[in-house]
Amino acid sequence: MNQPLLGCIADDFTGGTDLASMLVRGGMRTLQVIGVPEGPIDADVDAVVIALKSRTLSAAEAVAQSLAALGWLKQAGCRQFFFKYCSTFDSTPRGNIGPVADALLDALNAQLALACPAFPENQRTLFNGHLFVGDVLLSESGMRHHPLTPMIDANLVRVLQQQTARRVGLVPHAVVSQGVDAVRRAFTRAQSDGLGYVIVDATNNLDLKVIGEAAANHVLITGGSGVAIGLPDNFKRAGLLPDAASAADLPHVGGRSAVLSGSCSVATNGQVDHWQQSGRPSFALAPLLLAEGHDQVSEVLQWAKSLLAAGPVLVYGSARPEAVKAVQQRLGVAAASEIVERALSQIALGLRDLGVNTFVVAGGETSGAVVKALGVDALRIGAPIDPGVPWTLGLGKHPVALALKSGNFGTRDFFSKALELVP
Ligand code: ADP
Repeated sequence: MNQPLLGCIADDFTGGTDLASMLVRGGMRTLQVIGVPEGPIDADVDAVVIALKSRTLSAAEAVAQSLAALGWLKQAGCRQFFFKYCSTFDSTPRGNIGPVADALLDALNAQLALACPAFPENQRTLFNGHLFVGDVLLSESGMRHHPLTPMIDANLVRVLQQQTARRVGLVPHAVVSQGVDAVRRAFTRAQSDGLGYVIVDATNNLDLKVIGEAAANHVLITGGSGVAIGLPDNFKRAGLLPDAASAADLPHVGGRSAVLSGSCSVATNGQVDHWQQSGRPSFALAPLLLAEGHDQVSEVLQWAKSLLAAGPVLVYGSARPEAVKAVQQRLGVAAASEIVERALSQIALGLRDLGVNTFVVAGGETSGAVVKALGVDALRIGAPIDPGVPWTLGLGKHPVALALKSGNFGTRDFFSKALELVP
């Protein structure tokens, strides 16, 4: 691996992809890895995002995993680090944002980090330390009822202060709107006043660019993916990143293509309908037959064998809510899910043996299962197909092109559109 510039630790998987897409947009070739890699990874990139699942772990466990990720990123040669959390600051009075940021500051021997979850393109803005979701305060948004991390206070200075022994301050919008030098001076003052964190206001992308530039020399930055908007330009100004970057370009993997769908969300069911209405070949898995030991996997592969030369095929478990409920009543929720995930994973492997190197996968859990079965341990992030869903190159023993779509993402023609845009 070359020496990446920016090392990121994301507290969940889709947040990691979100951040990676933002960096690619800014011209940084970005690799997303799933968990802390066991050894070095062979890839030439400018940024690495290690996606953890640490948002709702105990603080001690989240700290341990984040420090392991930091250790790997340091070893890889990264010179700046980014701790990515949700743009709604999802956390509890016990953490995990404060404890993880504290541990990272200690490990990096740094005094001050900014904290900015604002993501104006997604209607998350921060003003006078208060986080808004659309036009309501965070504490009045749906987030107040979140089952794991209910957010009942929109004042992030107060929220973060509950999670850390370091002192938390604010760089208000009145300062951010004065530009880079004013923000830089505010950071210097905060540090000499002994603060550990500053919440920084941002209501638009220009603010985020100002903040990013002012933090060019910060070893640790914390926030949502929005505040990463300003970071690629810092590396360009320093002559470390080419200006005319084609960061979204992925190598062409060639081979045949298939769509695997295990998502039963409304959007996915519409996408399956659209595929069938366009006259393209599809095969429906029957969870009850699978549960009885019926070898649908071999049937699918036999069926696909003759069709793949002519074009892509769709294999799906996806079904309407009534059908899903009926299956779950017979088999149990966990067993039903597992049976379909296992079948789609085995089918992915079988299709690969039939020359399929390009997979569109629908469903968050389904994607996790398929990626695991294919032995993919890292993803190079490419251009977006629809917002939040980029083409990726799955790295492992056999490189594969992967479009991983969680439930309700994507337009009705997503499957065909993705295959038209395949790198
Ligand atoms: P989403 O992103 O839409 O939530 P997931 O893949 O995360 O999709 O979850 C869908 C789950 O439903 C998977 O575990 C999948 O195996 C399961 N599933 C797929 N088809 C069926 C079906 N016909 N009956 C019951 N469960 C199903």
